[in-house]
Amino acid sequence: MDKVKALKGFKDLLPGESEKWEKITSLVHECFHAFGFSPVRTPILERTSLFTRSIGETTDIVEKEMYTFEDWDGKPVTLRPEGTASVARAYLEGRLDLKPLPAKLYYQGPMFRHERPQAGRLRQFHQVGAEIIGDSNPRQDVELLSLLSHFFEQTGISDLTLEINSLGCSVCRPPYRLVLQDFFEAQLSLLCEDCNRRFKSNPLRILDCKKESCKTITQDAPASADHLCETCDTHFKRPCVKVSIHLNYPT
Ligand SMILES: [Zn+2]
Ligand SMILES: [Zn+2]
Repeated sequence: MDKVKALKGFKDLLPGESEKWEKITSLVHECFHAFGFSPVRTPILERTSLFTRSIGETTDIVEKEMYTFEDWDGKPVTLRPEGTASVARAYLEGRLDLKPLPAKLYYQGPMFRHERPQAGRLRQFHQVGAEIIGDSNPRQDVELLSLLSHFFEQTGISDLTLEINSLGCSVCRPPYRLVLQDFFEAQLSLLCEDCNRRFKSNPLRILDCKKESCKTITQDAPASADHLCETCDTHFKRPCVKVSIHLNYPT
């Protein structure tokens, strides 16, 4: 009889590697606590609609990467592909909005995406994330970015570059979509099949394409940060300036 092996894209952590793992996860707790964040642990299995609603039906994650199956009651359930949607659900269901705001929450744990397994990309992967709910002041973005920078410093990883972007809001994103479609229209024959589909459904996803041929084209694509409405522009620039001062990065 064939030996049963771990699934493709799923990995064991054995002694030698698991100690390093423990070290990183305890560093996560240490750093996030130091910045005033509280841990949240949400279930790994959720109703599928939680993710289709929040991540969007036209993203790669929802379209082809989710582990979705029918539960015993016949309703679709999904192994969480990311953490934010579950944390937002738990925040509302647990009435954390009645507690003092902002709520500063962090999570870590396994997430599942049916991606093509490759170096550094597994189908069960571990993600750490933080959410600040109940305060839209840009200083909260600065705090999160400082926390991330501090965390990576503590891991001993050097030579870090922090890349900050803004996806805008419901006011400035639709016109930016049109700008992107204008840009990609002339290059459709050079884009992969998936990107040709994304062109109509969600052109912003073309910017995430991992295929080399598409990456070459997207390099020159108009940047979202140059097409923000006034509110988003102000919100975006304040953290950029503050973070550059705080972390001593050049503006
Ligand atoms: Zn905006
Ligand atoms: Zn592509």
